[in-house]
Amino acid sequence: MMNDKVDVLIIGSGASGAAVAWSLAETKMRILCLEQGDWVKATDYPSNGRDWEARLFTDFATSPNRRGRETDYPINDANSPIKVVNFNGVGGSTIMYTAHYPRLHPSDFKVKTLDGVADDWPVDYETLEPFFAENDRMMGVSGLAGDPAYPPHQPPMPPLPLGKSGARFGRAMNELGWHWWPSDSTIATVDYEGRGRCLNLGHCTPGCAQGAKASTDITYWPHALRAGVELRTRCRVREITTDESGMASGVIYYDAQGAEQFQPAEVVIIACNGVGTPRPLLNSLSGKFPNGLANSSGLVGKNLMFHPYAQTFGYVDEPLDGNHGPPLCLWSQEFYETDASRDFVRGYTFQFNRGTASILEAITSSDNGRLPWGEDHHRVYRRLINRRIGLSGIIEDLPEEHNRVTLDPVLKDSNGIPAPRIDYMIGHNSWKMITHALGKARTILEAAGAKDIGTQVPILNGGWHLLGTARMGTDPERSVVNEWGRSHDVKNLFIVDGSIWVTSGGVNPTSTIQALALYIADAIKQRLANLFD
Ligand SMILES: Cc1cc2nc3c(=O)[nH]c(=O)nc-3n(C[C@H](O)[C@H](O)[C@H](O)COP(=O)(O)OP(=O)(O)OC[C@H]3O[C@@H](n4cnc5c(N)ncnc54)[C@H](O)[C@@H]3O)c2cc1C
Ligand code: SF4
Repeated sequence: MMNDKVDVLIIGSGASGAAVAWSLAETKMRILCLEQGDWVKATDYPSNGRDWEARLFTDFATSPNRRGRETDYPINDANSPIKVVNFNGVGGSTIMYTAHYPRLHPSDFKVKTLDGVADDWPVDYETLEPFFAENDRMMGVSGLAGDPAYPPHQPPMPPLPLGKSGARFGRAMNELGWHWWPSDSTIATVDYEGRGRCLNLGHCTPGCAQGAKASTDITYWPHALRAGVELRTRCRVREITTDESGMASGVIYYDAQGAEQFQPAEVVIIACNGVGTPRPLLNSLSGKFPNGLANSSGLVGKNLMFHPYAQTFGYVDEPLDGNHGPPLCLWSQEFYETDASRDFVRGYTFQFNRGTASILEAITSSDNGRLPWGEDHHRVYRRLINRRIGLSGIIEDLPEEHNRVTLDPVLKDSNGIPAPRIDYMIGHNSWKMITHALGKARTILEAAGAKDIGTQVPILNGGWHLLGTARMGTDPERSVVNEWGRSHDVKNLFIVDGSIWVTSGGVNPTSTIQALALYIADAIKQRLANLFD
């Protein structure tokens, strides 16, 4: 079936798709977003019920393979020690994220110049600064100004409460003389633009029923829809079509009934995340583009970066309030910048975990042998529950071409579209960094009074940061999109999600993903009159 032509077609309604839709709305162009998933109702969130932890293993599992909703696509990640997690629906993975919201550092954009590795980005922190600030207001960021690890910025809301475990970590870090700061977080600490403030109950990752956690279905989308953007759910894009001159002409997608549709468009913007974006590109084969669309460099799908997590935890001898409040509320960037005395380049952030809920404590402690069955079960469980504290090093992955997303030759989604296949190994530099982080984390935990220390490396279902598979750059032979997100090969095709990252930094990426999406939208607006010259 043929639909009316639109000016701008956005594929994916998550962190970046929502931001770009909102920003472009003021142009009054006809803008359509196609999203394969549904709207999620706040009443459906697990945090409404007492079975919320159990639902982390079923319909709100972070792994799409386990969740297996009709709106999900399977991912073959057998050849990766880190499994991909995401959410497919309006708001994308922000429905499921933990709302920890650091920015990349200025140095992250210049790693080739500073450290002689990977490549410099074609944009810098200063260029993105106004877009970081705009995005902070739109998402609603809480935090404390004055963090010495960053150039000055002013979060619009006060920080989250530290709770007992946060205060304990803060004291330990002060004793060690190491940097720590209350996290920037996209959780409302005061009533904010129609969103209620956080109640500090702490079931944030599988969605916040209170609306305090900023997922884009409740931040950007209501504004974009009111401004006239159309959002069509249950529409899964199979491929991007091109015309005789090699320009994108629209997309072929399957609607809710599984019927194939053609949607023509003047401009196509992809916002499907670092695993979802290479998929339609590699699936768009034609005589002119035999290796997939926008892929003359051969780099579509390559250089996948995840951030391996180096997790360390221990137990203290008093009950804490670890399960009350959002799971992450402070960070340390003591070990973030390159230090010539270490045997690796770049660095990592520590994010401190507040605590673990009851079922998860039982499951993980049974798995790692801490919690026995039989006579001692209850006694040991009482010693573990509410006493766990932990921290994770978010390890900067460097881009390596053999880490990649390709199309699986066998596995397909419910519409018969080939599923992505992941091939990924943790690199040498990352392993050295992991060893360093585990040592420092132990020192911190001991200073915080924790005993019975354990580690988990990498976090198995920890593939939440999906970066690098359609990198940006000025050289068409070494990058997929240019410095403002436009494909070098197809001049009316843009990419705005984490795929365009050149390097990964050592922070959770969503703040920078969205700032980049707003920056690209701004570049499009500025060039509207002669966009394709
Ligand atoms: C459990 C978890 C915890 C996380 N915690 C944090 C955190 O604390 N801090 C942080 O910064 N980040 C965190 N993240 C990561 C964060 O969610 C992502 O970085 C961010 O959402 C990525 O934005 P995006 O726009 O690239 O893609 P997404 O938000 O994933 O959106 C992509 C959208 O595209 C749609 N789509 C894909 N393919 C198609 C297709 N073919 N047709 C139609 N639609 C399609 C998908 O359904 C999805 O809605 C977490 C993620 C998870 C899963
Ligand atoms: S702790 Fe706050 S942000 Fe988390 S689910 Fe509860 S109200 Fe939402």
